[in-house]
Amino acid sequence: MKKIIVIGGGYGGLRAVERLAGIDGLHITLVDRHPYHYLQTEAYGYIAGRFDLHDVAIDLKNWCFGFKNGVEFIHDEVTLVDFENRTVHLSDKKLSYDYVIMAIGAETNFFSFIKGLREYSHGVKKLQRAFDFRSSFEKLLYTKVEHPLDEAKGELNIAVGGAGLSGVEIAAEMADVIKKHTKSIGESTRDIRIHLIDAAATILPGMSDYIVTRTQERLEELGIIIRTNAFIESVDKTTIRFKDGQSLEYFFMIFTGGIKVPSFALSKEVEKNGLNQFLVDAFMRIPGETNVFAVGDCVEIRDAKGNILPPTAQTAERSAEYVANAIKEELQHRELKPFHASIDGVFVALGGEYAVGEMFNIIKVKGYSAYLLKKLITYTYYLGLKLRLNTGFKKRTKPFED
Ligand SMILES: Cc1cc2nc3c(=O)[nH]c(=O)nc-3n(C[C@H](O)[C@H](O)[C@H](O)COP(=O)(O)OP(=O)(O)OC[C@H]3O[C@@H](n4cnc5c(N)ncnc54)[C@H](O)[C@@H]3O)c2cc1C
Repeated sequence: MKKIIVIGGGYGGLRAVERLAGIDGLHITLVDRHPYHYLQTEAYGYIAGRFDLHDVAIDLKNWCFGFKNGVEFIHDEVTLVDFENRTVHLSDKKLSYDYVIMAIGAETNFFSFIKGLREYSHGVKKLQRAFDFRSSFEKLLYTKVEHPLDEAKGELNIAVGGAGLSGVEIAAEMADVIKKHTKSIGESTRDIRIHLIDAAATILPGMSDYIVTRTQERLEELGIIIRTNAFIESVDKTTIRFKDGQSLEYFFMIFTGGIKVPSFALSKEVEKNGLNQFLVDAFMRIPGETNVFAVGDCVEIRDAKGNILPPTAQTAERSAEYVANAIKEELQHRELKPFHASIDGVFVALGGEYAVGEMFNIIKVKGYSAYLLKKLITYTYYLGLKLRLNTGFKKRTKPFED
């Protein structure tokens, strides 16, 4: 029986487990420091109150029970991967392995050169942070509903720092909620202004002209104030200060301006880039360690032209599928083929039933049809998780019902 340990129950980790679980002769253990899988890609809807907690959190124990041969889940933090002794260290025990897959993801990079950023802004890479932000947004709406005539408060600014995919989606969803529900929650909610801030010259840097232009149009239609070429210098409890001397008083701030991989102890020094991402060989392995793979956001992944791909769930899943297959090939003593990363398409949710998208660089869609396509992708993913969750839950709770 070969032992495989998957570290991290995110998009990459779960996909690796799914692909490996059907192979005979494997004992699979999934370890995560949280008891749930957090659907970060749906965070925008959770924050704006469109989705609930059960839409973005999936219990990993129940999910793991859903596999026919069973997958072990351990809720714990991995403190060290010891390559020499082939062990993964948890808080109070060690697990031995034949193969390990590191799928530890990334966290928000609260740039240390922006004074006060970490202290005063929220990230959304962790469920706890998304929950805090959702509560702040709800509180703001409640204040406006309860005290509509409180002229003293006037305009209230929500600042979203970082106009990449996550920042854009969150800003659009909040603006849509405010716009759509003005009739029921009162016109004073119109005083809430959403500012989307980025140091780059454009929103969604690196994306195609089509996606950028259509997104910009939609954000403007929703009343979002876009501030590009805006370098944040410092943040304090009430005010964001920009390098050009301007400032913005804010009610609360979210920061989605970048990622970095959390520090993670390994028994030997390995090569990493400036974001702390692992630099792997052509087979997604830590160089020199033939049985240690890394997938998803924690790895620098390049396409065939050598361009670094943005960290997405899509790439995390593709890399995990590759690694699961590579392990299978190795177990059958077949030669490995290198991983070829590419992006099939991108969809940006832009509030309510509106999205823009592009597939295979040819198909371009916007509006309701793009929303339906994006929904189909996310729903298929969610449904897969739910079916396994239901099976696992039934298996786990059956003895108690008898
Ligand atoms: C708001 C938002 C919107 C997004 N929208 C999209 C989108 O539309 N499309 C898209 O493709 N991507 C999107 N993304 C990006 C996508 O969510 C990430 O690229 C994806 O989550 C990466 O998957 P992963 O498996 O590498 O890491 P993660 O999903 O982050 O999972 C990492 C896991 O590792 C665990 N872990 C970390 N360290 C340890 C440790 N030491 N011990 C135990 N466990 C550990 C964590 O608890 C976590 O569960 C979005 C992200 C955000 C924040």
